[in-house]
Amino acid sequence: DQKQELKEPLADEVPGTLDTSVPDSASIASSIKYHAEFTPSFSPGKFELPKAYFATAESVRDTLIINWNATYHYYEKLNVKQAYYLSMEYLQGRALLNAIGNLELSGAYAEALRKLGHNLEDVASQERDAALGNGGLGRLASCFLDSLATLNYPAWGYGLRYKYGLFKQNITKDGQEEVAENWLEMGNPWEIVRNDVSYPVKFYGEVISGPDGSKEWVGGENIVALAYDVPVPGYKTKTTINLRLWSTKVASEEFDLCAFNAGDHATAYAALKNAEKICYILYPGDESIEGKTLRLKQQYTLCSASLQDIITRFERRSGDVVDWGKLPEKVAVQMNDTHPTLCIPELIRILMDVKKLSWEEAWNITKRTVAYTNHTVLPEALEKWSLELMQDLLPRHVEIIKKIDEELVQTIIDEYGQEDLHLLQQKLKEMRILANVELPGTVLELLVKPEEDPIEEVDTAIEESKLVDEVDQPEEEDDPEEKKVIPQPDPELPKMVRMANLCVAGGFAVNGVAEIHSEIVKEEVFNDFFKLWPEKFQNKTNGVTPRRWIRFCNPNLSEIITKWTGTDDWTINTEKLAILRKFADNEDLQSEWREAKRRNKIKVAAFLKEKTGYVVSPDAMFDVQVKRIHEYKRQLLNILGIVYRYKKMKEMTPEERKTRSVPRVCIFGGKAFATYVQAKRIVKFITDVGATINHDPEIGDLLKVVFVPDYNVSVAEVLIPGSELSQHISTAGMEASGTSNMKFAMNGCVLIGTLDGANVEIREEVGEDNFFLFGARAPEIAGLRKERAGGKFVPDARFEEVKAYVRSGVFGPYNYEELMGSLEGNEGYGRADYFLVGKDFPSYMECQEKVDEAYRDQKRWTKMSILNTAGSYKFSSDRTIHEYARDIWGIEPVVLP
Ligand code: PLP
Repeated sequence: DQKQELKEPLADEVPGTLDTSVPDSASIASSIKYHAEFTPSFSPGKFELPKAYFATAESVRDTLIINWNATYHYYEKLNVKQAYYLSMEYLQGRALLNAIGNLELSGAYAEALRKLGHNLEDVASQERDAALGNGGLGRLASCFLDSLATLNYPAWGYGLRYKYGLFKQNITKDGQEEVAENWLEMGNPWEIVRNDVSYPVKFYGEVISGPDGSKEWVGGENIVALAYDVPVPGYKTKTTINLRLWSTKVASEEFDLCAFNAGDHATAYAALKNAEKICYILYPGDESIEGKTLRLKQQYTLCSASLQDIITRFERRSGDVVDWGKLPEKVAVQMNDTHPTLCIPELIRILMDVKKLSWEEAWNITKRTVAYTNHTVLPEALEKWSLELMQDLLPRHVEIIKKIDEELVQTIIDEYGQEDLHLLQQKLKEMRILANVELPGTVLELLVKPEEDPIEEVDTAIEESKLVDEVDQPEEEDDPEEKKVIPQPDPELPKMVRMANLCVAGGFAVNGVAEIHSEIVKEEVFNDFFKLWPEKFQNKTNGVTPRRWIRFCNPNLSEIITKWTGTDDWTINTEKLAILRKFADNEDLQSEWREAKRRNKIKVAAFLKEKTGYVVSPDAMFDVQVKRIHEYKRQLLNILGIVYRYKKMKEMTPEERKTRSVPRVCIFGGKAFATYVQAKRIVKFITDVGATINHDPEIGDLLKVVFVPDYNVSVAEVLIPGSELSQHISTAGMEASGTSNMKFAMNGCVLIGTLDGANVEIREEVGEDNFFLFGARAPEIAGLRKERAGGKFVPDARFEEVKAYVRSGVFGPYNYEELMGSLEGNEGYGRADYFLVGKDFPSYMECQEKVDEAYRDQKRWTKMSILNTAGSYKFSSDRTIHEYARDIWGIEPVVLP
C-alpha cells in the first residue's frame, strides 16, 4: 500500500534557466495579454472583467512559481528542518492583492491593467474567497503561513481541498439559509494540481499479525489523496512556501469496470462518489452515523496523506541511509487543534508496519515529532470519537491507541501509586485516552493483588485503624478489601476515544493561544497532565498578519502610519507602530486619522447598501460584532442592549432623542452552524430587530441595525478598517483567544469587551483607558452559575424590561420564547442562562453609556483610536511564529540566496 512510485524531482535535476528579473508594467501587461489568449478558461472575444482577473492571476502565478520552485529546491539542497502545520481549516480569502502586495508589484499591476482598460480593484473583486475554514482557527492558520513565508521559515501547511468549503449564508425572511459555496466553479488559478504526488489512503479492512509479531493492515476500502499546491509568498522576500491541500479520488482498482460494462452504473459510480465525497464539504453535519464516519475519514485522509508525504521527503533527503531516529531533527508536525490527532497513531503505524521499527522506537520518535495546539476549553467541544466507529474504520490505529493508553495508565499508576485506590481510580477516569473502557488486562493483574497473608492483613488493618483514629477519618475509607478493587466501567456507557488526551500524551508540546487560556489549560482542563509533564505546557498568544490586516486592507491608514512613524518598516517590524503614541494628541495626525476612518466608513456604507439595501449615515458611530454566531460569544447580549437602547429612545420626546442620542450603526455578521438551532434563532432575531428599527421613522439615522450576509475574509477586509467600536463580549473564560479583536485594534477601532482570551493582553498593551471593560471575570463564572441554578440570582430591572419588550411582539410574530426562555432557565429551553447574559447585562449597558460619552468627544475618541493601533504591535503573527519556531519547532530562518 505504501509504495510511492512517483517521487518529486531532485533539486539538481531541474535547470534554473528562467528569467527571474523583477517585472515592470510593460512586461506585466504583455504577460496578462499572453494568458488571456493562451491560458484560456473563457470563450475568445472581449477582455472583460472575469477574463481580466484570470489572466492577471495566471500572470502573478508565473512569478510565484519561480520563487516557489527556488524555495523548494533550496530547502531540498540544504536538507533543513521543516515545520509542518496540519489544519482541517484554512481561511485564505482572496489571493490576488495579497500576492502582488507581498511581491511589491501592486503599482506595476495597477499600471499594466490601466493600460489594458481595467482598474485593479475591480479586477481583484472578481476573485472568490477561498473559504476553507469556519472562523478564527482557520484564519489563524492562514496568517501563520503568511508570517512563516515572510520570516523565511522553512515550513509547509497541509489541509484538505474542500470542493464546497463551509457554506454560503443567505439571509432571508426566515433567518439564515445555507447553500453550497461552489467556489471552484470557474477554476482556481492559485492552485497547481500535482498529478505526480498522490498517496493511497485505506479505511476499514483488518489487521493481520505475522509470525514475528509484525502487523499488516489489509483489505478494506482504498482511495487516493491527490496533492493540490498553493504557493504562499512572503512579504518582501523570495521565500514562497507551500500549502498542500489534498483532494480525494477513487483508486483505479476500485472502479468496477465489469459492473459498469454490464450496465450496473450505480455500483461503478458508488466507489467514485464514495472517494470524492470525502472532500466535498468542511464539517459535514455529524448527527448521523454517516456524517460522523465522513468526518473521521476526512481527518484520517489529512493525517495519512500528509505523513506519507513528509516521510517520503525525509527518506529522499536522507539519501542512501535512513536514520529514523533523526526524524525529529528534520520534522516538526503541529496539530492545529485535535482534528489532526490521528497523526500520532498514523506516524507510529507507518514507522512500525511499513518501516519495520519497534514499538519503542516508533513511539519515541513520534513523541519527539508531534506538537498540539489547544483551541478550546469548552467541554462539549473537546473532541471524542466512538471507539466502535473508529475500530471499524481504522482497526490498526485503535490497536496503537490502546497501546498508548496502556502506557499512559502505567504512568498514572507510577505517579499516584496504589495506596489510595479511589484517587487512582479517579485519575485513571479523567486522564485515560479511552473512556468507559475496562483497564488493560496487564494492568488489572498488577492492581488486583493475590490474597494476602491473613495475619499480615490483620496487622495492616490494626496499623491503619490507628492512623485513621489519629486523623479522624470516616471508617469506610480504610476498608482494605474495597481498596483492592478498581470498578470496571458500566458496559452500557459508550466507549470513547478522547482526542485531546491522546494529543497531550503523544505531543512533545501543548500550547494554549492566549495567556489566560493557557492558564486555564494548565490549571483546569489538563491540570492532571500539567502536574505530570509541566515541561510540555506553553503559551503562544495568537497573532494576525499586519500585511493583509492593515497594509493591504487599509491603505488610507497605512499611508498615515508610514508618514508619522517615518518608515514603512512597521509592516514587518510592528513595534514601530508604538511611535504613534507620542503623536496621539497631535491635531494634524488626529485630523488625518479621522479623515482616513471616514473614507473607510463611506466604503462600508456603500458595501452595506449593496449587500442589504439599508442606507446608513457615515456620521454615526460604526459599532461592529462580526464572528461565528455562538451563544458564548453573546451576540444576544449585544442585540438586547440595542433593543433596550431603542426602547429608551422611543420613550423620549423627539427633541430629547436628538440631543441625547449618539447615532449608531450596529453591524453584525457571522455564520451559525447549520444544525445549531439556538444560534440560528439569534440570527433571525437580529434581522427582525433590524427590520423594525431601520424602518422606524421616529428613529431615522439615530440607530440602525444591519446583518451582513455571508461574513468571510473579504467582508472582514471592508468592515474592519471602517469600524469605530467592536464587540468582543464572550462569557469570561470561554473564548480561547479571538483574533478579530487584534485586527480591529490594529485598525484603530476601540474595543468593548470582557476579560477573556486575548482581550486581556490587548487591554494591557493599549492601556486601560482605551478599552471599554465590563462583566464578570473568569474565576467568578462557576460560582455565578451555581448561584443562578440555586435560584439566588436577582435580575436587574433593565434586563427584565428588555425581555418583556421583546415578548410584547414589537419585532414581529416570530416566537422568541426559546431565546428569552434560555436566559431564564424556563423548563424545556435549557440552560438557566448558562452564558450569564442576565448577569452581565447591567454592567454592559453602563459600559455602553461610557462609550457614548467618549464618542461625543471626538478628540478623546481619536486619541483612543490611535493608541489602539500604536499598542497592537504585539499581536502580529510574526511575533507568534517566532515563538513557535524557537520554543516548539526548533527551526531557523533560511534566506534564499
Ligand atoms: N471569520 C473571519 C472571516 C475572520 O476574518 C475572523 C478573524 O478575523 C474570524 C472569523 C474570527 O473572529 P473572532 O476572533 O472574533 O472569533
